[in-house]
Amino acid sequence: MNNKEVFDLTDQYIMYTYKRFPIALKNGKGAYLYDYDGNEYLDFLAGISVNALGYSNPAIIKAVKELSEGLFHTSNLFYTLNQSLLAKTLVDNSDLDKAFFCNSGAEANEGAIKLARKWGNGRYEIIAMENSFHGRTMGALSATGQTKYQKGFEPSLTGFKFAPYNDFSALEKMITEKTVAVMLEPLQAEGGIIVPNQEYMQKVEKLCREKNLLMILDEVQTGMCRTGKLFAYQHFGIKPDIITLAKALGGGLPIGTMLAKAEVAASFEPGNHASTFGGGEFITGVALASLNILINEKIAEHAAETGAYFLSELKEIAVKHNTKVKEARGMGLLLGIELKDNVSLSEFGAMLLKNGLLTASAGSNVVRFAPPLIIEKEHVDKAIKIVDDTLTNFAS
Ligand code: PLP
Repeated sequence: MNNKEVFDLTDQYIMYTYKRFPIALKNGKGAYLYDYDGNEYLDFLAGISVNALGYSNPAIIKAVKELSEGLFHTSNLFYTLNQSLLAKTLVDNSDLDKAFFCNSGAEANEGAIKLARKWGNGRYEIIAMENSFHGRTMGALSATGQTKYQKGFEPSLTGFKFAPYNDFSALEKMITEKTVAVMLEPLQAEGGIIVPNQEYMQKVEKLCREKNLLMILDEVQTGMCRTGKLFAYQHFGIKPDIITLAKALGGGLPIGTMLAKAEVAASFEPGNHASTFGGGEFITGVALASLNILINEKIAEHAAETGAYFLSELKEIAVKHNTKVKEARGMGLLLGIELKDNVSLSEFGAMLLKNGLLTASAGSNVVRFAPPLIIEKEHVDKAIKIVDDTLTNFAS
């Protein structure tokens, strides 16, 4: 097989819902990926914030091998051990008390929306944010504050309103007697790597307490050490009522979860919510192995340190190439550079790829960097050199 043969197979049999970069990935090691033509890429995307431990991590491979000898799936009609151990580890390392397991980020957000409505006992309105992203299922899509994703799929679910992100007074004015929750990302990733300020996040939490609203944080992309703490909310000195996780939770395999405070979780009764595959013995075992590595090997601290270095280098790039780059920003290892209008984001991304660096876009004009969290300074230096050279050679 070569790249072209994989492209042809894909184009013939897969629905055209993704605009793919012209490479077909075959395998990977650490922070590097290889395609079917034998080319090497430095991966600064990590499956879009999924592969926190990079590729072919020996401890994850060992866990997968061992767990593959056991149960893959039974049913949530029975007790199994790994899902409770995974829940315990998540709870022990957060301010939440109970978990519900599912299979993806969108599904975790569906669960959060349902739990909020059940808890609200008649109150149902959720104030989400403009420019947010919560996933592609109808509930999560309805909570997403970007009409481009909803176009063609209307009508959205009722009960969602959108406040400008990071604007407390606008949010405050939108609360009604029907409002049950405020739902937001602790850093808007898909929206363009937008970091809210601490005062805003603390005021939102205080408002939720005063008005008896739930604070729901979508940590699907920011969770699992990505921003330099296990959960991004831990940067802000707040304690949300619900957080949703997926992406990096499963060490590269699909799993999602919603964590909630006990008092909120208590609104769900048997039969209210379920998922056939949610919390299966195999996948929760893999996720537990991955989480233990993240915690024991202090990957959050490493991501914070490496991310701070990377951001300072990107800021220098922004100054050096100030005719093409507006700003460098982000938290931990979820960073971006905002390009000026004279630079085409898609063309620039394609050139980075040609030069051996995998990235993705965020928002309309931001190059997103979300490398595996295990990268070292040398990987950052290599990526910076590629970005620098590509900017120098990019004819705007
Ligand atoms: N929420 C956020 C913040 C995300 O970034 C994403 C995916 O990019 C999702 C939800 C949806 O997750 P999934 O694609 O696993 O459904």
